[in-house]
Order: sequence, then C-alpha cells, then structure tokens
Amino acid sequence: LYKPVRDLGRLAAKFSRAGVSAQRVAEILDLQPEIEDAHDAIELVRPAGEIVFENVSFAYAGGKPVLEGLNLRIAAGERVALVGPSGAGKSTLVNLLLRLYEPSAGRVLIDGIDIRRYRRDSLRREIGIVLQENLLFGTSVRENIAYGRPDAPPQAVEAAARAARAHEFIVDLPEGYDTELGERGTTLSGGQRQRLCLARALVKEPAILAMDEPTASIDPVSARLITEAVGRVHRGRTLIVIAHDLADMSAYDRVLVLDGGRLVEQGSHDALLRQRGAYLALVERRHA
Ligand code: ATP
Repeated sequence: LYKPVRDLGRLAAKFSRAGVSAQRVAEILDLQPEIEDAHDAIELVRPAGEIVFENVSFAYAGGKPVLEGLNLRIAAGERVALVGPSGAGKSTLVNLLLRLYEPSAGRVLIDGIDIRRYRRDSLRREIGIVLQENLLFGTSVRENIAYGRPDAPPQAVEAAARAARAHEFIVDLPEGYDTELGERGTTLSGGQRQRLCLARALVKEPAILAMDEPTASIDPVSARLITEAVGRVHRGRTLIVIAHDLADMSAYDRVLVLDGGRLVEQGSHDALLRQRGAYLALVERRHA
C-alpha cells in the first residue's frame, strides 16, 4: 500500500505544477499580436513584385529614428543590393517590408497597394526570406525545406533543393531527404544550412526574395554557390539582398546606399564607383 499512497502524494504536486504551466500557456495564447490584419484585409496573390517605400519614417520603441522620410521604388523583377554602414537601417527596411513592424509615418506598397491592406499570412507567403542565421528544426531535411510551403509535393522540395545547390549534399546524408537534423541543424556546416534555408525560401516560389547578408558567415565555396544559385533561379522576380562583403555587385541591376536611415546614393555598381562618393568609400573600407 505504501508505494501507491506515496505516488498519490507526488501526483498532487505534479497536478499543481501542471496547473501553473497551463495557466502560463493560456496567458501567452491570449496575448493579442501587436500588428493585426484589418477586418477587410485582402490576400496578396502572385504579385508582380513592385515595392515602394513612400516617405517612410521609423523608430524602434523608445529608440532614435532609424529611417527618416525614405523614398524608394524597386521595380517588379529588379535585383537590388542594399549596402551601407552598420546601423544604417538595412535590416529595418526588410523588417518593414515583411510588416514585422509598422512605419511611424509614410507607407510601404507592394504592387501599388499599402501592405497594411494585405493579410499578413499572404504577405509572408509571397516574400521569401533568407537571413544570416536561420533556424533549422530538429526534424527531417524534407520537413525543414517544406516548412516554407507545407503542402509542397516531394518533387517541389527536391526542385527547390536543386535550385539552391543543396541537393548534392542532401543525397550524401545518411538518409537523404529523410535525415533528421539535430537541434538547430548541428550536423550541417554553416554553408549547408544556408543552402537548405535558401531551398526553404525557394520552395514557395516567392515573387519577392529578401536576403539579409546570406553569405556573411559561411565558407567561400558555399557563398559562391548561393550567389550563383540566386542569380540563376530568381531571374524575373524581385530580389533584395543586403550585401556586406560587396563582392559580385555587378550581379545587381542597382545598388542602393543607405546611411543614417536615408538613401544617399543609387545606381549600378560601375556608375556608383565613378561617382566617387559614399559607395566608393564603403568599397575601399571593405578592402582596406
Ligand atoms: P547591420 O549592417 O549592422 O546589420 P543595418 O543597416 O541592418 O546594420 P539595422 O539592423 O536596421 O541596421 O539597425 C538600425 C538601427 O536600429 C541600429 O541603431 C540598431 O541598433 C537599431 N535596432 C535594430 N533592431 C532593433 C530592435 N529590434 N530594437 C531596437 N533597436 C533596433
């Protein structure tokens, strides 16, 4: 009798702990997101991919202004590189495009419509994103790629992996696409993880692909593969790359130089070099 009675006592303690945990979970589920869809929000479906920042100002809560009266138009299908010193507001610009934050003044438009009018889930679906550090899940390679589009058939997952130059190393893994990844994908190198994340973005076939220093902390071979892959695959769709190392800049239609939350120069890589202004100074600093 002793053991069951002792277990009963433990059960009571477990119940009370579970009660507290459940309460915390409920509190989180009850939180209202800061940014909500308008009640008459519309779906963004297969946009052409034109992006306009119209007089956009923005500051993070309690912080100083990051963007000030920014005006910018990226044509559908254009390939632009965003460059500028650290803290210039490059990542913030991408955050606003994804509507992770709202501008304090001005508007961001996709295909001529204020992004506040779009349902946020549709916005996320049409914009592919690759960050410097991407989270991989402790599930199979296939699921990690299909996370971008859960209904993706196996052929689409493989096509995306091929396009991102990830297929080659995936088939060499112990169980190919069914290989389980460790916490945060520890069994892969930085470059492999990055190619997997590019595949995850590409499987959605997004109209707009935004990449935040995608090749900053990976080996040169992977960096080259990624740059090549993006150049080939995403042709005809809008591409915004936050570039740090300023290599291969001639691959872009236009380079936008951001400084202090403003667009200070724009033009092709060659034209900007000839201007001998902020861009040239950045390039010289990189290669110093
Ligand atoms: P880097 O090249 O270093 O990534 P960046 O041009 O992308 O810089 P942002 O990351 O957009 O610059 O940051 C612009 C400014 O906003 C910086 O002063 C930064 O400290 C601040 N900032 C960025 N993210 C946040 C945040 N989540 N909360 C508060 N301030 C932030």
